[in-house]
Amino acid sequence: MAKSARFIFLGSTASMPNAQLDSFYMVLEGTKDGAILVDCGGSPLHRLMKANVDPLSVKGMLLSHHHPDHLYGLPYLLQGLWLAGKRDPFHIWAPSEACQVVSNLLDVWDWKEFEGFAGVICHPVAPREGVKVMENADFEVTATPVKHLIPTLAFRIRSKVSGRAVVYSGDTEPCETLERLAKGAYILIHESTGSYKGHSSASQAGEIAHRSRVKRLILAHFDPFADPEEMLAQARKAFGGPVELARDGAVYYF
Ligand SMILES: [Zn+2]
Repeated sequence: MAKSARFIFLGSTASMPNAQLDSFYMVLEGTKDGAILVDCGGSPLHRLMKANVDPLSVKGMLLSHHHPDHLYGLPYLLQGLWLAGKRDPFHIWAPSEACQVVSNLLDVWDWKEFEGFAGVICHPVAPREGVKVMENADFEVTATPVKHLIPTLAFRIRSKVSGRAVVYSGDTEPCETLERLAKGAYILIHESTGSYKGHSSASQAGEIAHRSRVKRLILAHFDPFADPEEMLAQARKAFGGPVELARDGAVYYF
């Protein structure tokens, strides 16, 4: 376990990956209370082990919304945790619509045949600005609804050790609720799919970073076939501060 809180990108791109980079999801690791996934791409067990995070230390997941690229690895993760000996429930915090999809997804497999499987407890998060989501010995998490094609949350994760906050936008168009959630954050992880309905461009992510006065911006959920230098240049111009591109396996302490 690390000395201070950290997060690791397990994937970095928008829903279409390429041969090198997988679709976006990440893991938060505290110093006292294990780890929490943020969304769940296709190969969580492999990616966690590659990042030196014990899958059994993962207590739950913050789920931004139920589009497949953010959720499709969940049944496979649960099967792996069960095989590895997990018997207590897996917790998920998500929009209520996403909790319903999680339940439907789990019904596809007959989990009753998995002896001792304690299942999933999905905690629906009210679509209210700044709503408290969860708290453990390491983190305090709040959320806010953002503007995507389906109900979606952005999360603010505050480390109880450093007091620093990391904000993850989820999938969203530029919106004021996110701007307020991100106010003064140490790191803003913002999607940069492009200027489509329900999404943002790198430049728009930079504008949000500028207006919310964050210290550092990481572009995530981007088109892996787009020119990375061009995305960075656009975001830097709009933000005026340090910008990086998320990379599978990259580790950040906060
Ligand atoms: Zn989406």
